[in-house]
Amino acid sequence: MENRQPRYFANTLPDYVESAREEGEGEKGEGEGERGEPEGGKAPAKRDPSMTDMPRGGGGGEGIRFPSSQDFMQSGATLKDDIVHRTWTAVDRTVRDPFMYTGTLGTALLCLKSYQVTGNENDLKTCLDIVDASAAASLRAKLVVTFLCGHSGIYAVGAVAAHYSKDQRRFNRYINLFNEVASERALAAGPEDGGMGMPYELLYGRAGFLWSALYINRHCGDGTIPLSTTGAVIEAIISGGRAGAANTGWPLMYQWHGTRYWGAAHGLAGIMQVLMHFPLSPSAEEDVKATLRLMIRNRFPSGNYPSSEGKSRDLLVHWCHGAPGVAVTMVTAASKYGPQGEGAEFLQAAVEAADVVWERGLLRRAGLCHGVSGNAYVFLSLFRATGEKRHLHRAQAFATFLRDRGQELIRTGKMHGGDRPYSLYEGVAGFSYLWLDLCQPENSRFPGYELF
Ligand SMILES: [Zn+2]
Repeated sequence: MENRQPRYFANTLPDYVESAREEGEGEKGEGEGERGEPEGGKAPAKRDPSMTDMPRGGGGGEGIRFPSSQDFMQSGATLKDDIVHRTWTAVDRTVRDPFMYTGTLGTALLCLKSYQVTGNENDLKTCLDIVDASAAASLRAKLVVTFLCGHSGIYAVGAVAAHYSKDQRRFNRYINLFNEVASERALAAGPEDGGMGMPYELLYGRAGFLWSALYINRHCGDGTIPLSTTGAVIEAIISGGRAGAANTGWPLMYQWHGTRYWGAAHGLAGIMQVLMHFPLSPSAEEDVKATLRLMIRNRFPSGNYPSSEGKSRDLLVHWCHGAPGVAVTMVTAASKYGPQGEGAEFLQAAVEAADVVWERGLLRRAGLCHGVSGNAYVFLSLFRATGEKRHLHRAQAFATFLRDRGQELIRTGKMHGGDRPYSLYEGVAGFSYLWLDLCQPENSRFPGYELF
């Protein structure tokens, strides 16, 4: 259905070149004193002056002069204000879609990010106002347990924002609401319940519930949501994965609507990403690692990953399906198992996936889920894991492309701005979030997927 034009812009942005011209980028203030890896030499700058969709090099020479941290912050804050206006104040603070992926909770998370970067208390207050209204509106919706598409995301962001605003009463209210979700029986139901139970994946299933618990604990303190709450859900995901893997050759496998997905949104990459943050039994730990190794062994020759088991077309380079989401999970695995040791193979896989994202990830779509803003996070993730400036360069290049040309490409129909154009996961809120993260790349995290 999208075959009329290529899914992505040919990437003629200059790749990182190790050179003496680093002063041009030095204004960002980070990266100095990093290991000077020789990898720049094998990736010569590719420039095509006829490619008018590309940001122009700043002053010629080796490549782009990127915006400063201050410029990224300004752009991110200005767009954030516009998004708050369009999704909140201009619609009389009414909430139609209260959830993260396409709804008002995405605006709330963007405000929280802005607060974290700028310290502006007004952003924190707006975040809480939106969360309160979203929570009220969500009572009309059927219970979904996840962070990105469901109720636990509302309660998790509410608890975290209340924690930062030192509002104990509100914090308790949101933790209580979260615990009500946690008491949903289907969350911990075992595989003996067959395929009729709750899904396991990130967007609508149990992994997405666990991510909310992780998010709360990271911000409000370990044990805020104790293992006594999450442990049975973890067990159910492991045993469900083993049962689902029967006769497949995989250690763990899951289905969502009858398909064995590999990607971050509905499949293995997302589920493994969540499991790796919890204490696991040695055998479960081995199953997670073996699952990731099997994904690497069975990826496409290009380094990209199938969207689901048996898919033979090397097509999608999205966070939801394909190399970007898998790459972030591989970075998590590398960090967990030691990038110099057992985790080295995962780091290598992430680097190779990132090359695919660089080549084919400048998508004709805007958002985090299947757009350029999400794909930029692959490079940020690798930058944090390795300290190598090459990865930061690539993230800055994608972010600069969006900053210079994104809105115009959407306006002229060359880039799809999302069915919900101001949403976090489909729309331009992803731009704003990314630019705010570019102010402090070492603190960046893919929202809803990487823990800060
Ligand atoms: Zn997507």
